[in-house]
Amino acid sequence: MTLRVLSLASEAFPLVKTGGLADVAGALPDAVGPAGIEMTVMLPGYPVVMKGLKRAKLLHHYADLLGHEARLLRGKIGVHPLVVLDAPGLFDRDGGAYGDQNGRDWADNWLRFAAFAKAGAELAAGVVGGGKPFDVLHAHDWQAAMAPAYLRFLHGDKGVAPKSVMTIHNIAFQGQFARTIFPKLGLPPAAWAMDGVEYYGDVGFLKAGLEAADAITTVSPTYAREIRTPGFGMGLEGLIVAKSDRVTGIVNGIDPAIWNPAHDPALAKTFTVRTLARRVANKRAVEQAFGLEPGDGPLFIVISRLTWQKGMDVLAATLDHLVASGGRLALLGSGDAALENAFHQAAARHPGRVAVRIGYDEPLSHLMQGGGDAILVPSRFEPCGLTQLYALAYGCVPVVARTGGLADTVIDANVAALAAGTATGIQFDGLTLDSLSLAISRTVRLYHQPERWGAIQQCGMKSDFSWTHSGRAYADLYARLCSPA
Ligand code: ADP
Repeated sequence: MTLRVLSLASEAFPLVKTGGLADVAGALPDAVGPAGIEMTVMLPGYPVVMKGLKRAKLLHHYADLLGHEARLLRGKIGVHPLVVLDAPGLFDRDGGAYGDQNGRDWADNWLRFAAFAKAGAELAAGVVGGGKPFDVLHAHDWQAAMAPAYLRFLHGDKGVAPKSVMTIHNIAFQGQFARTIFPKLGLPPAAWAMDGVEYYGDVGFLKAGLEAADAITTVSPTYAREIRTPGFGMGLEGLIVAKSDRVTGIVNGIDPAIWNPAHDPALAKTFTVRTLARRVANKRAVEQAFGLEPGDGPLFIVISRLTWQKGMDVLAATLDHLVASGGRLALLGSGDAALENAFHQAAARHPGRVAVRIGYDEPLSHLMQGGGDAILVPSRFEPCGLTQLYALAYGCVPVVARTGGLADTVIDANVAALAAGTATGIQFDGLTLDSLSLAISRTVRLYHQPERWGAIQQCGMKSDFSWTHSGRAYADLYARLCSPA
């Protein structure tokens, strides 16, 4: 029997992307398809999404969706069904998905994503859109998290409501808003409760979704354990512990149609695990793109949001050591102004050795993975992380903090792993100046042992991070939820 799943996300590649969530939401329909799941993706109608919507069909017209006129439109994302919430008053504006051109969050984000979630719940329940109810509603992160809550409080008594899955891609972003918004959410008074939407006296979107969902997933087994503790749970650890019987960790996969060095149009030269020598053309192209001088040491790369979570403050402080060790760095990213500044200063101190590109550049990120020797991912916490997975596929050795998905996907080149030929990267414990500097030194030493280095690259390229296993894990979860107890 085919199960129908409505996947609600605030971004999905290739239509709109600010981070890993988009890659995952974009890849899931293909990932679960082979297991008999028909997934429909639902997105907010930002201008970029509306532009990408071809031959859309009207599913429903809302005269008043939480105070705004809106339409549900049906189109396609790749070959899969897509539903877009076209609500110009909420989504048709210049700027990003979550904030204005200066990076300030939209003041009405609570309303934008409450409306999105409410429409998603109504579509999933078959209340709008004229179709049958979906079997499962799958909500991603706080922006979609009110959907399970709407299902529970508005449609829970209608017999077989869809089952709901709440996936945490990053528990640091919780969608917490002043309690004054509660009356405007269109929920019954009973929803204002400790096990409802109330969160330390405010309204908590992610909290409400976690309370309401039939299953909770996060994007790696280690992160699923970490978020039970105060250091990682960020206030939600008690809830996660209380619901631990329904929490699982499923590692993200990578989409081989988009991330494959054998067929990547963004590379100067494509390559496979058997033609690693061809990578040098990409390395030269990266050096040229960044204005770096050639050198004997490794070319480190960083592709990241420049934030505290990603450990970028500590990285900026280790760059003198990185250069002194013979390394060079090409960094692509954007984020906190102070961190952007710190990297600009490092580049000014080390011209030709450290170069920084502030901005978002998808093709350049592919070229860097195909030409860099090692990627630095010194995150303080990392639910799954995708850049280290792309690096593994592209023969770029990941140097990562041992946390979350980084711990689950990289095998440290310790003596035993080197001897067994299973090492795929370098890990270090606890982000400090010393631990990261040591990891950089270890990387440089290994790089100068070409046989070992080549073995690490090859082992990484051969590891399987396709969606096969994880797609099946999600499909099994949907099937379990829908099978009669
Ligand atoms: P997060 O979602 O926390 O930002 P992930 O590692 O899970 O981190 O995913 C980040 C995604 O965004 C990857 O696909 C990465 O290649 C991409 N990315 C991050 N910064 C940039 C950038 N400046 N330019 C291009 N791609 C970027």
